[in-house]
Amino acid sequence: MKKVLITGAAGFLGSHLCDRFIAEGFHVIGMDNLITGDLKNIEHLFKLEHFEFYHHDVTTFVHVPGELEYILHFASPASPIDYLKIPIQTLKVGALGTHNLLGLAKEKKARILIASTSEVYGDPLVHPQSEDYYGNVNTISPRGVYDEAKRFQESITMAYHRFHGLDTRIARIFNTYGPRMRLNDGRVIPAFMGQALRGEDLTVFGDGSQTRSFCYVDDQIEGIYRLLNSDYNLPVNIGNPGEISIKEFAEEILRLTGTDQKIIYKPLPEDDPMQRRPDISRAREILGWEPKVKRNEGMTKTWNYFKTLTKEELEKNEHRDFTKRNRK
Ligand code: UDP
Repeated sequence: MKKVLITGAAGFLGSHLCDRFIAEGFHVIGMDNLITGDLKNIEHLFKLEHFEFYHHDVTTFVHVPGELEYILHFASPASPIDYLKIPIQTLKVGALGTHNLLGLAKEKKARILIASTSEVYGDPLVHPQSEDYYGNVNTISPRGVYDEAKRFQESITMAYHRFHGLDTRIARIFNTYGPRMRLNDGRVIPAFMGQALRGEDLTVFGDGSQTRSFCYVDDQIEGIYRLLNSDYNLPVNIGNPGEISIKEFAEEILRLTGTDQKIIYKPLPEDDPMQRRPDISRAREILGWEPKVKRNEGMTKTWNYFKTLTKEELEKNEHRDFTKRNRK
């Protein structure tokens, strides 16, 4: 039975990847330090014979016994609020964590797929963003810790590919949503849905003219799975090109949830990109992939998930308290 290591397994994308690889008949080792991940996302897997969980921080030496076919590196804080709270860990997991996992892949002769991000394009001056665009990143802004860690991650991954002949894949993941997003991670969809559920007004940052393009998680996982199974080593954008302004999006959510709250406006966070839409020509051509789930369908599924959260989970509105131990 083939073994796969998935880091960030208790997170949003990591947990969906664990499900997919279990369904594909793999033995799955999920790894997470549980700083931003939540065991609730993978609780259902613990009873399975072919799922193991390692509570481990990948910024320190990673040991996995036996053979490994694939490694998928999805461990990282991934929301602006997290970067502000744990900036150094964000840098470390993208840089040192990636280095450790590349070393492990080399040792095991495993194929490794790295979760990169549209944040490598920063506040893009080219629209839509194709993989050939080099980006417009402010190295020293609060978001810089994530953007630069991910840019370094791509760089060291290509260096291992070129220098050591390592079998590598790089997915540039654009905004993705769906069940198991963390309610209070500050991202726009859980923020709006949590507000709708608590009967609060929806907070649009800036004037809401900034755009994003949201990909449903099932489409994202399919794209990642196909990329892993391809023989393509350069970065590939995986996302949904359906672009919408945040203001229109808030209106859409109000209609979907049937709540009669208003939209209120708050200051735009520093270096919040003004526009973002993936050019997915490369994914179409190389992976024969494109997103299938319409926003309305995906958002309905996501809303149904958030509605299952307990009152206690909903009211826990403060962001997760990162302990001192976790701040290193
Ligand atoms: N946003 C907003 N209200 C919120 C949370 C986010 O208007 O309560 C905006 C945010 O400023 C950004 C967009 O929604 O322009 C998407 O934010 P998110 O953090 O989800 O993703 P990212 O900025 O990383 O694409």
